[in-house]
Amino acid sequence: MRQIVTPLLNWYELNKREMPWRDVRDPYLIWISEIMLQQTQVETVRPYFDRFIKLFPDVNTLAFSDQQQVLKAWEGLGYYSRARNLHKASKLVSSEMNGQLPGKFEELLEIPGIGPYTAAAIASIAFNESVPVVDGNVFRVFARLTELEDDISRPQTRKLVFESLKEIIPSENPSDFNQAVMELGALICRPKQPKCDECPVAEYCSGFRQGTFARFPVKRKMKDRPHKEIAVGLCFANGKVLIARRHENQMLAGMWEFPGGKVESGESFTECVKREFMEEVGLEITVTEKLAEVDHAFTHFSITIHAYLCTLISGTAQPLSGSEVRWVLPSELSQYPFPKANQVIINSFLNRTV
Ligand code: SF4
Repeated sequence: MRQIVTPLLNWYELNKREMPWRDVRDPYLIWISEIMLQQTQVETVRPYFDRFIKLFPDVNTLAFSDQQQVLKAWEGLGYYSRARNLHKASKLVSSEMNGQLPGKFEELLEIPGIGPYTAAAIASIAFNESVPVVDGNVFRVFARLTELEDDISRPQTRKLVFESLKEIIPSENPSDFNQAVMELGALICRPKQPKCDECPVAEYCSGFRQGTFARFPVKRKMKDRPHKEIAVGLCFANGKVLIARRHENQMLAGMWEFPGGKVESGESFTECVKREFMEEVGLEITVTEKLAEVDHAFTHFSITIHAYLCTLISGTAQPLSGSEVRWVLPSELSQYPFPKANQVIINSFLNRTV
């Protein structure tokens, strides 16, 4: 394995992509970029990263900002717990660490929301510590190079890959080595149709030599994702629409949405909207027409949201299941952070009224 180091670093020097966070050494900026890059493509992250660091240029600014502002800046990027945890952790770093992220891998792991991957990225890139990063790209490259038969979803396999790379990561430039392996995984050793003929480490690759690379990495099959039908209502009264804020202990905590919920067995979508309005916000409503239908996939399940226009019959809106409710003008909706699927519903509504 040690033979891969030099050709890999040479290849990286000539082929690395320009990125706003590449070649920076500021641990805060590396932290933000690595959190954003989790489960998200580089091209999607770029504009979010630029905007985020303009709004929150350092740990203290982030720590003293309102959570709603942070969620608003994250809106559309998904996996909102990343933004909430980042915000929470910035408060800790600001109040207990004098606004400075610690420089050691083990110390970084103590910060909530910073796992082994992010800690290794910050420690190696900002502080030059010889600690390897292990993400999906690294797993794939390593598994193909060594024909690794172990299931990569098992924690033991992560440990094995981490320890093996630790043996070969060069102490002079651990940052380049880590980024080179990830870049190789992203550009050359791609999940489908890897470009082995352009690969700088092909001669050391067992999977290539044996023609077995397509079998790696070995991963346990995920069960089929369950699907849920959700019905929601945009309820209007006096020109304003009702929105509700999700509770801190719910998925998508702190985000705003239109009241509604899961359609129960034997229930129609419109019956569901009426029931949910009564249960969630204490309002009796009437459903007038269907507005939109939106499909969305989360990691462990997928949903279809059926959105309806509704009008108020009686009652005073109360946050019976969320943390807050508000009547807002349609033009004010853009001030609130909404999950991606709700954003599609808002656009459907705004487009039909212009
Ligand atoms: Fe991946 Fe092919 Fe390079 Fe092996 S030779 S590391 S399979 S791209």
